[in-house]
Amino acid sequence: MLQGLSRMLPTIETEALDEAAVYRMERLYARTAAPGKGAPGVLECPICNRTALRFLPFGLGGRRNAMCPTCGSVERHRFLWLYLTTRTDLLTGRHRVLHTAPETALEERLRGLPNLRYESVDRFNPYADRQADLTDLPYGDGTFDVVLTSHVLEHIPDDRKAMAELARVTRRGGRAVVMVPYTPKEAVSPEGRDIASPAERMARFGHPYHYRYYGRDLVDRLADAGFEAKGVSSRQMLSPHRRRRFRINANWLFHCIRR
Ligand SMILES: [Zn+2]
Repeated sequence: MLQGLSRMLPTIETEALDEAAVYRMERLYARTAAPGKGAPGVLECPICNRTALRFLPFGLGGRRNAMCPTCGSVERHRFLWLYLTTRTDLLTGRHRVLHTAPETALEERLRGLPNLRYESVDRFNPYADRQADLTDLPYGDGTFDVVLTSHVLEHIPDDRKAMAELARVTRRGGRAVVMVPYTPKEAVSPEGRDIASPAERMARFGHPYHYRYYGRDLVDRLADAGFEAKGVSSRQMLSPHRRRRFRINANWLFHCIRR
């Protein structure tokens, strides 16, 4: 997850920096501080287990109460963690895990699980185990049992190639958990891979480096790559009380089985 992109938005929109130059900025990948004491409160982060009266604002629009002040997680990370820990055997099973564009809060927890053989990959993040492009991964076929990829595919012009690579490195019968900006209201994902201007992508997709958001054809795209995907929404999975307590917004993830 990139930190501080919003402060650079005017520069990005005027195209004074190209996309690769922005992603190469090491400070965008700064690690969060070690967990502090935390304040007593009504909000709880299920990743670091701290409570707080308020969370921090986050995102280009400054969403309120979004980011855990202790571990830096935002809503989708907390949803993904709750899914992985309550609906899968990630805490107990022995798995080779590939985590793409690793979010610090999740990475620290996953690396600490002795049952996992964990590997992270990112194009530019200097803290990742490997620096590589998702459309050309440096792993053999079927290397991983579990692949986690959250909010990465929308940054990639040729997302079908990236999905095919993710499927290639996942063993048959293995799993991928995929998160992207998604709305079930659109049948077909609005595509912007040919839009060259960050300002226009910002206007169309709400982010200067998003090439699309996804509609219901996401499942078909994943199927073409070799994954049988099933959507899980935070509203289905979590009660209103838990969504309020953990500060989790309307969010989707896709549980995929490698065919
Ligand atoms: Zn936290």
